[in-house]
Amino acid sequence: MNVAKTDYNLIAATSFSSGKKLNGKKKTGPMDIEKIFGENAFGRDEMKSRLPVEVFQSLIATIEGGETLDLEIADAVADAMKEWAIERGASHFTHWFQPLTGSTAEKHDSFITPNKGGGAFAKFSGKDLVMGEPDASSFPSGGLRATFEARGYTVWDPTSPAFIVENEGGSYLAIPTAFASWTGEALDHKTPLLRSLVALNKSALRVLDLFGVKGVTRVYSTCGCEQEYFLIDEQYYFRRPDLQMTGRTLFGAKPPKGQELDDHYFGSIPERVLAYMLEAEKELYRLGIPVKTRHNEVAPGQYELAPIFENTNVAADHQQLTMIVLQRVTRKFGLVCLLHEKPFAGINGSGKHNNFSMSTDTGLNLLEPGDTPHDNLHFLFFCSAVVRAVNRHQDLLRISIASAANDHRLGANEAPPAIISVFLGEQLEDVFLQLMNGDATESKQGGLLGLGSPVLPHLPRHAGDRNRTSPFAFTGNKFEFRSVGSSQTVSVPNIVLNTIVAESLDQMGDLLEKQIAKGVDIDTAIGAVVREAVAESTVIVFGGDNYDEEWAVEAERRGLLNLRTTLDALHHMLDEKNIRLFEDYGVLSEPELRSRKAIMVEQYFLTINIEGETTESMARRMILPAAVRYLGELVATIGSATDVGLCVDGIRETAVEISGYINGLSKAIDHLIIQNKDLGGASMLEKALHMRENVIPAMTDVRYYADKLERGVDHELWPLPTYKQMLFVK
Ligand code: ADP
Ligand code: MG
Repeated sequence: MNVAKTDYNLIAATSFSSGKKLNGKKKTGPMDIEKIFGENAFGRDEMKSRLPVEVFQSLIATIEGGETLDLEIADAVADAMKEWAIERGASHFTHWFQPLTGSTAEKHDSFITPNKGGGAFAKFSGKDLVMGEPDASSFPSGGLRATFEARGYTVWDPTSPAFIVENEGGSYLAIPTAFASWTGEALDHKTPLLRSLVALNKSALRVLDLFGVKGVTRVYSTCGCEQEYFLIDEQYYFRRPDLQMTGRTLFGAKPPKGQELDDHYFGSIPERVLAYMLEAEKELYRLGIPVKTRHNEVAPGQYELAPIFENTNVAADHQQLTMIVLQRVTRKFGLVCLLHEKPFAGINGSGKHNNFSMSTDTGLNLLEPGDTPHDNLHFLFFCSAVVRAVNRHQDLLRISIASAANDHRLGANEAPPAIISVFLGEQLEDVFLQLMNGDATESKQGGLLGLGSPVLPHLPRHAGDRNRTSPFAFTGNKFEFRSVGSSQTVSVPNIVLNTIVAESLDQMGDLLEKQIAKGVDIDTAIGAVVREAVAESTVIVFGGDNYDEEWAVEAERRGLLNLRTTLDALHHMLDEKNIRLFEDYGVLSEPELRSRKAIMVEQYFLTINIEGETTESMARRMILPAAVRYLGELVATIGSATDVGLCVDGIRETAVEISGYINGLSKAIDHLIIQNKDLGGASMLEKALHMRENVIPAMTDVRYYADKLERGVDHELWPLPTYKQMLFVK
């Protein structure tokens, strides 16, 4: 299949970010949400008030109706956007995009255009708005550049609102864009995300049509992400080269008090942190990002923030912005926000629960159990399609969240494990089981309603109960993919979710069509197809404790994948099944998929390479010298104390212990130096494997001795802020 140039416009985006003011009349306190919400986003209201009626209607047809953008209107939109941006203090504009590094990129251009009289005026044309040409050569292309032209271009995504980035020195207008090569290969995450939304829309509409549902013209996935993060005082951050270089502590003994007491979770938020949160939320509101909840997390120093869900394309942009704002605002409060998945060993890591559902343009949540058995049939169809997709593509979900940093969570004894399974909740699981064993005749709650044949289960709304350990849990009216890492872009897991669910709906739709063609009535037909989907997927359903070692054993017995490390997961990325899936649904061509794998392997290598080098340098230049100095003090004391006839047994013992650890550390450093020098092979994969097999163990070894020394060496001499200092600051 030939992946056609993406039609960026074929996307629905009904979202809070359309600039609508929040409902509710009462104005409260200094933060007037109603007034500030969306003031830094070029949303629907702003467009409406500034654009000629025909232009506005044409643009809305693209944004909300998914129609192809009429390029004729670009000049008018650009002009209105520029006027608005200048009123908000902007002097420059940028095409804002998400290269494959996982972060965001921008290159600024001034609005300024000199005039003949020696002055200047502000200019921003439709062409400037629609297309840009950043230098693509500095972004990773995973080999696409070797075969294609080096140049890349950015294309305006009209479905995600442009916004203002403010700075003390001035402001600029940021325009969300897709980033592709001149030959049409995606060089970013937005392009395939938009393509996957197109695929999901098509498959879901077809199914709804077969159901006989009328009036729906668009279906899109919805996404709401719970973002976890740590806050530490910046004075400590700047004394930790590991945090600065790698985002995590490469050394640090566990404090006497960790998270065992569980007293931080949902506790009251420290004053300075609350002030920070209010400021960050205010910035987010002004950008039209509907953040909703905040609380302390399990670990000391850990917090969480969650927005109200939106169309996935907008949500993904908003999520990137949220991470940027969270990090930027900390500085005003003398704090630093750590988004790394595992900043502190021995203490919970940070994730980003990705809540996923599907919505129609008529406002129907397709994963919401309905009030009538009839609605429930539809719900069961969509719900089982998701479960079936997860079962068939466990590998892709694991790949979508694979990174060196996230391996610390998924491979270790915390968070969701690397094994992908689905939690349904007792009641839904029960219904699934009954369906598989024949007709569902009874539900746990007994509230079963019949509608001819087959007998249809009645599900109370929000039946999902809680299972905190599941990587993929049904929580009432959405699925929550909990394995996503705190620093990761949510675009990638949602590209996978949209695509695998589109495929599942399609294949189940085929079966449904066959049944209907045979003359089977629609409800019976749906029942039969759901039953088949459930039957093949029960293997992935698990309601127990995912942290339990027993689960790994049982999962293996069930034949589920357990891809512990990033490289294990990436090994499956180019399996024939995956190439076919992405090509068939026009989401990623084979070269695009290959390039993504190459970049992920390289990122893995780079991450650990930097960690290895940083460990070596800190151990040699900070930790070893401090330990040696302390040993020197001990030895000198032994000498002088002996001179005056004091007993030095205790000091001698300490010196022996410290000297033992110093010898261990010094040997471990020597070994790490050798591993850091060795590249492991010529190919990137060999280098990455060398990192996993040799550099990580060598680093762990160095850390072992360093952490022992931290416990024994004079605190005054210790060159690094300790976990205790960093984690318990208020
Ligand atoms: P939890 O269920 O994790 O305790 P919430 O019910 O508040 O917490 O939801 C957490 C996140 O799930 C929020 O960001 C919320 O907007 C999002 N969410 C809720 N419904 C949906 C949906 N239909 N689609 C996508 N995300 C959703
Ligand atoms: Mg949650």
